[in-house]
Amino acid sequence: MEILDRLIPSHVTPAAQWEQRFPARPLAEGAEVTRFAPSPTGFVHVGGILVALIAQSVAVSSGGVFILRVEDTDQSRYVEGAVEQLGRSLEYFGIIPDESVGSGAYGPYVQSERAGIYDSFVRVLLEQDSAYPCFCTSEELAELTARQQAAKAPSGYWGPWAACRSLTEQDVVARLDVGTPFVIRFRATSGDGEVRRVKFSDRVRGDIEMDDNRNDVVVRKTMGLPTYHLAHAVDDHLMRVTTVVRADEWLSSVPLHLQLFDALGFDAPQYAHIAPIVIMDGKSKRKLSKRKDPQANVDWYAESGYPVEGILCYLRGLANARLQDEPWQQVLSESLRLEECSNSGQLLDLAKLASICREVIADLPVEQSADRLLAWAQRRDPELAVQLAEDRHALLRVLSIEQTQPDRPRKDLATWGEFREKYGFLIPAAFTLVTDPADARFDPLDVELVRQMAAVVADGYKHDLDGREWFEQVRTAALSLGFSASVGEYKREPERFRGPLKVAANVIRVLLTGSTRSPDLYEASRVLGATEVFRRLASLA
Ligand code: GLU
Repeated sequence: MEILDRLIPSHVTPAAQWEQRFPARPLAEGAEVTRFAPSPTGFVHVGGILVALIAQSVAVSSGGVFILRVEDTDQSRYVEGAVEQLGRSLEYFGIIPDESVGSGAYGPYVQSERAGIYDSFVRVLLEQDSAYPCFCTSEELAELTARQQAAKAPSGYWGPWAACRSLTEQDVVARLDVGTPFVIRFRATSGDGEVRRVKFSDRVRGDIEMDDNRNDVVVRKTMGLPTYHLAHAVDDHLMRVTTVVRADEWLSSVPLHLQLFDALGFDAPQYAHIAPIVIMDGKSKRKLSKRKDPQANVDWYAESGYPVEGILCYLRGLANARLQDEPWQQVLSESLRLEECSNSGQLLDLAKLASICREVIADLPVEQSADRLLAWAQRRDPELAVQLAEDRHALLRVLSIEQTQPDRPRKDLATWGEFREKYGFLIPAAFTLVTDPADARFDPLDVELVRQMAAVVADGYKHDLDGREWFEQVRTAALSLGFSASVGEYKREPERFRGPLKVAANVIRVLLTGSTRSPDLYEASRVLGATEVFRRLASLA
């Protein structure tokens, strides 16, 4: 049997058949085919969503095709259920691919189901001597690295250090005969060990020149699956991808990828390398880390309750800075342009995200806010969900407080997660009565004055008044107890008063809302209703 057939069986499908099966796409001039190609490692990185948004927008705006491909050839990193999780995250962000697992004419779209396809092309490389088997064990490779370090030579499997590059046929046969496991390595074009330079153009970074690749990288692993590098070339060629939008950690691999495309007789795609999202760590910036930063995981944003439009708007602004000052509805409708992406790390700014989300929530119709809040609470705060669901009418009134004024809507919620803290007091079942007159929230008033203020207001309490009249009863109570009508008056003659009016009014605020800061008290009292207001005014022990 020929050596070649012992490395890759002759019955693999000839590469030409794949070329026929996946012909050039009938697309208009200028249409771009892009893809998002995550590895299912059980965690969807927010930087991945940024890349996917850009890739999708480029395809959609050019009348092209957007593909989702699952890159699961590194089986050791595979996490059960990760593909489903990925699907859920993409759906949540409205990133709907034109072709993906189970649908599309250029599939399969899961790499582990494409092993036969890769073998056809590994055979092409072997046939033309652009690849060779390597029998080195991990111990031998470790020893190679040690020798290179001692000789101060660059590490890697290259040039004179690449032992299996020059094995004779007899050497190979002898090893195969005893069943020695092997990988297939690509024979780097500049394999003599000389460092050459290579130039290429990147849609984000412009013209680039860097050292050419001289490493003989593994393209097929012992168990038969390809490495990322080969799979990238074969898949992006056969799926007729025109534009590879990916994280810039792959930029340094471009020279190798160009060599692979060339050796396989493929036209190289255009590349667009997207800078990562970074975070401040002390005084320096670093990439958002999967291990250290909860914000690296897209689930964190949904779980915190940021509205999805706000997250999308924020990410789109990171992609193309021109969008940063536009209203969020506008940002969501614009196309993203590769040429406008920044080539340096974009700082994650949660304050900016929150301010966009406040705008979004303020603009949502109250009915929709109620639905979204409930949906969020059902997953993240079931107790609150039950309380909210009990009285939808009350919930709508709560969400309408200061919200329905067209000129100045309330902008105090950035996430659904903040609702409980800011508005939970309006849900009677969720409210803890304030019973201790010595409670710190009444500071600086003494216990007796707190009791008196509560009692005077409660005594003559009238509910059905307009806003001015309603507050007047609080004011009258305070003045009758010796508080000043204004801060100025108090400051001029502090000895004449027990304090300024607002300190007395704070007693009523704390009793009604549980907080020293709250939305408009009169509006809150409308939502609570007379009975509940009275119950709270009378709650001191
Ligand atoms: N599976 C690779 C990753 O998750 C994809 C890189 C690419 O888009 O080509 O980093």
